[in-house]
Amino acid sequence: MKKEKREKLSLESKMVYYPPEPCSMSINDPIYMSSNFQYTAEIYQRVLDGERKTVNIYSRCGNPSEYKFEEQMAWIESGDACLATASGMAAISTILFGILKSGDHIVADWTTYSTTHEFLDHRFTDFGVETTFVDTANVEHVENAIQTNTKVIYFETIANPTMKISDIEAIVKLAHEKGIIVICDNTFASPYVFRPLEWGVDLVLESATKFICGHNDALGGAIIMKSDLLPEDLLEQVRWSTLTKLGGALSPFNAWLLLRGIQTLHLRVERQCQNAAKLAAYLEQHEKVRKVWYPGLVSHPQHMIAKKLLPKFGAMLTFEIVDEPTAVRVLDSLELATFGASLGGVRTTTQVPSTMAFLDVPPEQKKQMDIRDGMIRVSAGIEDMDDIIADFSEALKKI
Ligand code: PLP
Repeated sequence: MKKEKREKLSLESKMVYYPPEPCSMSINDPIYMSSNFQYTAEIYQRVLDGERKTVNIYSRCGNPSEYKFEEQMAWIESGDACLATASGMAAISTILFGILKSGDHIVADWTTYSTTHEFLDHRFTDFGVETTFVDTANVEHVENAIQTNTKVIYFETIANPTMKISDIEAIVKLAHEKGIIVICDNTFASPYVFRPLEWGVDLVLESATKFICGHNDALGGAIIMKSDLLPEDLLEQVRWSTLTKLGGALSPFNAWLLLRGIQTLHLRVERQCQNAAKLAAYLEQHEKVRKVWYPGLVSHPQHMIAKKLLPKFGAMLTFEIVDEPTAVRVLDSLELATFGASLGGVRTTTQVPSTMAFLDVPPEQKKQMDIRDGMIRVSAGIEDMDDIIADFSEALKKI
């Protein structure tokens, strides 16, 4: 299919289709399980002449399976380029090390994924990059935190665990007036629910481990860009300046699994969003539930912004019961839903954010982030939601 025709396809068709591998015409790409590639005198010369991506050298620098995943990710995120990484955290650390240097400053939301928060709050400070944490749902707070050395504004499309949504349009406008790069972690939304590049964000990060993979069987990450602020070949520069140095390349087998995951992303996430909405409505009227955070509920603090930005409200929700030990008892009683750390897969998965995802965050900081002890986070799966609701109903009866 010609590029112009492919460009006009709907998102769903873009997810399903990619061109066959030209040598075999296999509709599924082979897995290039090779760390090493053979040189000829001609290839040797081309590498010396500066050709990099067009010749295969060594899989830490790039692999054809990884390139296929990158190509597909760029299509479905409405991006111009993508750089694949071994995990979501590899994507986050690679891009931040790749574009920032000592003396630079970041304004970040205070409810990012805890490991991101720790990286910015502790590890990155060792390299002279300071971060001011604010509530990015309040654009005034973002504006007030900007300094002359601010290079990046960083937040998540749907932020863990309160499912907070920032006004992306307003942040992009503010940032671009000052030449600041906007980076958005889109993991909780997935490119099916939201594509931040279409709203002017410069760089999007995905933990492909989650919805993109969808089956809890592979780690992966992606950095995707479309930006007038950044050089066109930025991600290729970052591949050579940073990814090859940090070493977080995506494995060929995982690239293949993630590529397969993309083909059913729209079907899975559509159902997951429907299930999340049903479960949120059920929990909101339950006598033992104190509060539910789901962007589709009118009670959600950013429901109006969610309505403006998101065609779907996502598959993630959080609810609060009396305390943490009781939350653990509920999750341990669930028989169909899985009690576990990750999210985005076909199975409904639950966790206690205050003692799992945010275990290392000090209590005062958790308070600031509105992370409460009795919170239970749910990643809705694709099961029959009546069965899942019955599972929650039984578990809640036991407390
Ligand atoms: N971003 C978000 C929002 C996450 O929830 C996670 C992991 O849970 C990550 C990034 C990190 O992804 P990974 O576990 O693939 O490194």
